[in-house]
Amino acid sequence: MDKLSKYKSMRERSKTPEPFTSKDIDPKKLVFVVQKHQATALHYDFRLEASKVMLSWAVPKGPTLDSKVRRLAMQTEDHPLDYRHFEGIIPKGEYGAGPVIIWDRGTYLPEIEISKSVRKQITNKSDGEKIMEEGIKKGEIKFFLKGKKINGSFALVKIKGWSGRDNSWLLVKHQDQYSKEGFEAKDFPKSVVSGKTLDQINPK
Ligand code: MN
Repeated sequence: MDKLSKYKSMRERSKTPEPFTSKDIDPKKLVFVVQKHQATALHYDFRLEASKVMLSWAVPKGPTLDSKVRRLAMQTEDHPLDYRHFEGIIPKGEYGAGPVIIWDRGTYLPEIEISKSVRKQITNKSDGEKIMEEGIKKGEIKFFLKGKKINGSFALVKIKGWSGRDNSWLLVKHQDQYSKEGFEAKDFPKSVVSGKTLDQINPK
């Protein structure tokens, strides 16, 4: 089964500059990206590598380091691995039309809970991918991010969505040395790759 069939069915290769390949695979590390995307509504696309795709969630308010805050995260279609390098403009008329910047990126380690608030990081990539697959099935994954803007231990927990939809999760920051009260993604508007904001990517 092609995990990217949904992704491909939603886009036309000849009309969008978005990547369709998964060529750039780190042999040892799992990667993540957060892309800030001004589509019909502004949101942050949070993507974690697992089993040759980028698992994806749209987070309207973006990730936070504030451990007291939960952020709604709507799971979306799996994306190709090379999507993590995409920064640019999705043309008018295409799915998700609007500018995209790489808001943050880096690597991550899946975590398992040993006992209450004691977590172990899984450093072996294939072991980590198994933990992620199991967690996705159960509707709860834990992971430690190593990015430029966001770092530390997080969880994504599936919740019962409104109107019978089955794609609602909550993104939460665990309390640790990286927790920061009042952290708002919008206070850090620049791409970690180009230094540009969404407005600077989008010619008027
Ligand atoms: Mn998006």
